[in-house]
Amino acid sequence: MARLVIVSNRVGIPDRGARPGGLEVAIRPALKRHGGLWFGWSGRVAEDVPQSVKIAAQDNITYATVDLAKDDYQEFYNGFANRVLWPILHYRLDLAEFTRRDLGGYVRVNQYFAGHLEKLLRPDDVIWVHDYHLMPLAKALRDRGHHNKIGFFIHIPFPPPEILTALPNHDQLIPALCHYDLVGFQTEVDAANFARYIANECGLPWASGNSFHFGNRIVRIGTFPVGVETEAFARLARRAVETHFVREVLGSLSGRSMIIGVDRLDYSKGIPERMSAFERFLANFPDWRGKVTYLQITPRSRTGIPEYADMGREVGEAVGRINGAYGEASWTPVRYINKAHSRTALAGLYRAARAGLVTPLRDGMNLVAKEFVAAQNAEDPGVLILSRFAGAAHECAAALLVNPYDPEGVGNAINRALSMPLEERRQRHSANFKVLVRNDLSHWAGRFLRMLEPPEDEIDSRTLVRAAGAR
Ligand code: UDP
Repeated sequence: MARLVIVSNRVGIPDRGARPGGLEVAIRPALKRHGGLWFGWSGRVAEDVPQSVKIAAQDNITYATVDLAKDDYQEFYNGFANRVLWPILHYRLDLAEFTRRDLGGYVRVNQYFAGHLEKLLRPDDVIWVHDYHLMPLAKALRDRGHHNKIGFFIHIPFPPPEILTALPNHDQLIPALCHYDLVGFQTEVDAANFARYIANECGLPWASGNSFHFGNRIVRIGTFPVGVETEAFARLARRAVETHFVREVLGSLSGRSMIIGVDRLDYSKGIPERMSAFERFLANFPDWRGKVTYLQITPRSRTGIPEYADMGREVGEAVGRINGAYGEASWTPVRYINKAHSRTALAGLYRAARAGLVTPLRDGMNLVAKEFVAAQNAEDPGVLILSRFAGAAHECAAALLVNPYDPEGVGNAINRALSMPLEERRQRHSANFKVLVRNDLSHWAGRFLRMLEPPEDEIDSRTLVRAAGAR
């Protein structure tokens, strides 16, 4: 296969000590297998205008990173990407703070990335661009004369045109996706929303049910639910549950059951709503008081954005309220921790938990949900309580699916999970686990790359079939 070039806002250079997000967790194994180049922002903000690309190599991956200037960081990252696109694509029009200046910064940084990337590109490179920070990147490369195969995958939700069109200047931004050869989404719903936008707003002619004509090219739309390394994560969890750290946590529970939640501090994750649900659970099912501990691990993110700081305060207050109202000298109902944990630590904690609470208000996929399933002991599994608005709900249909806006309903689901008979737990876990083994991370990357650039033999056989049909 031609060289693979991955482009994403943040580049996961190993040993930088940063907490991996869902995107990095998904990309690294794919790139490790294929080898290639990973290009993006270094995570550093330069004092004056940054110039050069820094190159580092490890295993068979070359990392190429650029710094951002202060204004670029402010307008592109903190501004347009995280205060406009993030809320709107998560259906939160109420939180979007649009300015033309930030949009200008967003387009400028995409041009800046394209300008540096093109110096490293070979004509037959296959380029795979990731996520909402880089929607106009293919256009910036095409404007510079590049004809490479370029695919785009968006890790977060893609809302219907009725929401997208509330974004000022959407007509400059969303149609820029037509410069990719393949546009990939987490779910069928996201893909259908994009198709409807193309039909309603751009009026481009369809080539087939999932591809349309744009100039002299055909753009394909695909659904690729991102997976986890299911079996490897299961092995990790088996080992991790025996570590000193997990044993110590379990010991500190004095035999109580544990419920676990793991989310970045982000309004899309529905953490305040989840606290209300746990509060309803304690109020409505008093028999569980003193017998269950809810551990919520929530590393802070995007601390420079006011909505995130507000939410941090709101969650802290809710935890204080619940522990104050229901706690005993010998029992703290909610343990709330802002420290990031290693994947090994999380794997062990998931396995030790009786229930996993994953209740985002909206989420592209949610890898924590899949990791929780992968980590369980199949003989005595914990129960996944999952928001119907997480992408993962399409595959983990055997979880207890809940509406995160309904605290009473989520509270009932917690009671049901903790009381569930062993046979039902096994059946539900086994159904979810099978799906996650079938569509694990290597299938995800493999399917995307095959659709972007079919292998030679596949092209040959299709050409032959077509030629045969023509005779
Ligand atoms: N994660 C981690 N340490 C933490 C919290 C999260 O390694 O303290 C990982 C978690 O295991 C998962 C990823 O970060 O693989 C989060 O991905 P998800 O899709 O759930 O959410 P995102 O943060 O990308 O919105």
